[in-house]
Amino acid sequence: MSLQLFVLASGSKANAVLLCKDNTKILIDAGLGIRLMVSALNAAGVRPNELSAVLLTHEHTDHVRGLSSLLDRTHLPVYSSIGTLGAVDRMIPARCKLTAMDHQTVEIGPFAVRAIAVPHDAAEPVGYHIEVGNHVVTIATDLGDVPDELAESLIHSTFIMLESNHDMHMLLNGSYPVILKERIRSPFGHLSNEQTAAALAECRGNGLRTVVLAHLSDENNDPALAREASAQALAGSGAALHVTTRSTMGPFLNLE
Ligand SMILES: [Zn+2]
Ligand SMILES: [Zn+2]
Repeated sequence: MSLQLFVLASGSKANAVLLCKDNTKILIDAGLGIRLMVSALNAAGVRPNELSAVLLTHEHTDHVRGLSSLLDRTHLPVYSSIGTLGAVDRMIPARCKLTAMDHQTVEIGPFAVRAIAVPHDAAEPVGYHIEVGNHVVTIATDLGDVPDELAESLIHSTFIMLESNHDMHMLLNGSYPVILKERIRSPFGHLSNEQTAAALAECRGNGLRTVVLAHLSDENNDPALAREASAQALAGSGAALHVTTRSTMGPFLNLE
């Protein structure tokens, strides 16, 4: 069966991504409340008890809102950095198996998964490098800068899901308080459309097939601007480009 990737939610309110290959179904972040999570999983044709594991990027609420309810029902194994596991400790029932990711590659069914440290204002935030069949998948949202290890992972990817959080002009001229604007644009905040496009420009011509722009700000971005910046960066690469929005689920992708 092909590799399937379903964006159940993406943005500053909630984040959850489902990655499926054969009978292994991994959830990356559990930011939807349990009711919305179950209905989003349903839309993807998956029941909560069919999930194989939960991987967390970091402990911010938009990534873990539904975690404890989901684990109460399923007792899924949880994977993340030591710092993130520590930060969500009280949300995890004692029966759940925890795996602290260091720099080692961990096998989950057909997925070979490695955590990559990213700079963001959380305990120990990570993105994920995932190899499965002929695919190399890199998923990173919530980061203020692209560290070398992540850039290296992106360059070798066939599939990329990367944050394109804000348009710098909209952020600077928007209604957010100065301190919040500074937090967002700091190296420990979020990537701008320009930063994302610059990272993607390095990935042309290396087998990259699909890109999903994620975690767009409702206030400080316009999906058309995010798309335009990255489309220019990827011009001629032949990679398909998708843009998530906060209000709608998707895309639902079959990666051959
Ligand atoms: Zn977030
Ligand atoms: Zn965050």
